[in-house]
Amino acid sequence: MSKSTNPETIALHGGDYRSDPATTAVAVPIYRTTSYQFNNTDHAANLFGLKEFGNIYTRIMNPTNDVLEKRVAALENGLACVTVGSGQAASTFAIMNMCQSGDNFISSTDLYGGTVNLFTHTLKKLGIECRYADPSDPKNFEKLVDDKTRCFYAETLPNPYLRVFPIKEVSDIGRKHNIPLIMDNTAAPIICKPLDHGAAIVVHSLTKFIGGHGTVIGGCLVDGGNFDWTADPKRQPLYNEPDHSYGGAVWGEVVPQLTGANVAFAVRARVCLLRDLGAPLAPDNAWGIIQGLETAPLRMKQHCSNAEKVVDFLTKHKNVERVIYPTLHKGEVGNRAKKYFKGGNGALCGIEVKGGVEAGKKFIEALKMFYHVANIGDARSLAIHPATTTHSQLTEKELLAAGVTPGYVRLSIGIEHPDDIIADLKQALDASGKPSLKAVG
Ligand code: PLP
Repeated sequence: MSKSTNPETIALHGGDYRSDPATTAVAVPIYRTTSYQFNNTDHAANLFGLKEFGNIYTRIMNPTNDVLEKRVAALENGLACVTVGSGQAASTFAIMNMCQSGDNFISSTDLYGGTVNLFTHTLKKLGIECRYADPSDPKNFEKLVDDKTRCFYAETLPNPYLRVFPIKEVSDIGRKHNIPLIMDNTAAPIICKPLDHGAAIVVHSLTKFIGGHGTVIGGCLVDGGNFDWTADPKRQPLYNEPDHSYGGAVWGEVVPQLTGANVAFAVRARVCLLRDLGAPLAPDNAWGIIQGLETAPLRMKQHCSNAEKVVDFLTKHKNVERVIYPTLHKGEVGNRAKKYFKGGNGALCGIEVKGGVEAGKKFIEALKMFYHVANIGDARSLAIHPATTTHSQLTEKELLAAGVTPGYVRLSIGIEHPDDIIADLKQALDASGKPSLKAVG
């Protein structure tokens, strides 16, 4: 078991996996099994009754996933982690683990488009209301709180604005009201640890930088173990009232008693939400993500250092109207990167290509090495035009609120040699400024 606090070491040795207990295999094996033989009937009853913790059924837990969960929890300075089938499932579970019909939660307006759909439409149909707060002033969160507000939600490094979220400021407001802050840390693993700044829960799309190779979809929820679920029973009824789906368990009380740890959120997500809603991460996919995780700290360094060089190049190119990057914001917002990030400012950057939509399209089409895909966080460099793709299901008002202007292009800078990345961007930007053959002819 590694006690190191260095991400490079945690990614390889974190959690309690040293070698496979059955075979001594060093690489984490894929446990392709749905179920686990109980030792006897008492053992089976104890597992189901949570008197003992152990494997029951792969919808709820799996030894391959367990290694990934422990390593991600350690990387985030959390106490426990639950993997799920995608980042979307992680966001859904995070909210549903605190809110029921009639409740509300407050989310930052700076969000991934898919999360906006989930919050605005799908959760609404389940009777859960999302109230949106502009994060440019953290007090906007407080203004929307009422006695049915169960949690706050935000992304560490949301695109397209790439304004680092005021984690401590909003978490302090939440804690005053016994409201936990959930941070989606998908775009800033390793370089930011939201739990250290007061967030209670971290969610990830493991599909992105942690998996890192564009091969696997996955997500997870990390329980920081730093939130008192029983401090205000009316604020968190799901942790203070008997759960009739589990023999009347009061999760906020029973989990610390059984485990000796403040991980009621993680246990409830596993034994209630994975049990009832499904959406587990397949062990094969957990294995794929572990391969990425083992080198993620190294890749993040290269992603971030490449991005800085790219940003420097872009700010000087005549066909670029505007460059968006966390440290380019003025004042308080720009300072947040310094306050919350360590070891880099992320791999995402945005550009407004001179000439609007047509120039933006030309630029994307002229890219030779960059892939034109709906993804971020691949080892390869990626580009997309959000207004016509990832954010296309949003209304015009929602698009503007999300900061998606017509000519905006999002870049996810990969780990190729920076000279090659810049050369591809240069030739595409040069092409974006030239009149097209059609226009000439
Ligand atoms: N959160 C963020 C910030 C994302 O960018 C994405 C996907 O693009 C998700 C969550 C959803 O993750 P997944 O695609 O793994 O469901």
